[in-house]
Amino acid sequence: MIFEHNLKTGRRQELIDITALVEADLKTVPSGEGICLVFVTHTTAALTINENADPAVPYDMLSKLAQMVPENENYRHLEGNSDAHILSTLIGCSLCIPVEQGKLVLGTWQGLFFVELDGPRQRRFKVKLLVG
Ligand code: ZN
Repeated sequence: MIFEHNLKTGRRQELIDITALVEADLKTVPSGEGICLVFVTHTTAALTINENADPAVPYDMLSKLAQMVPENENYRHLEGNSDAHILSTLIGCSLCIPVEQGKLVLGTWQGLFFVELDGPRQRRFKVKLLVG
């Protein structure tokens, strides 16, 4: 079974904590051990795991990423969102999280983030649970 989630993002670039959404999917299947795969089906968005306690962390990450890959450079792609494509590849389009006793194995400060890189848009991501 694959769970599908819709997200409405609100800014050009933002990190959205999706930990609770994925944990809710996990609660619908029998408790066990395995793997949770999260996948984003976009070329200008990404997924990452990082601290979800201090909102300054996502802010600093987006700020630094924008410095590393500026929005406006001499890109060839005419859509004008090459920075978003580049960042999507650098950050990655999937997460693989171990599952133990029906719960995501995450560190104390770790959370799952959907990374919007060219919003605001209607977005989707998928969750595949291989738990038994
Ligand atoms: Zn594009």
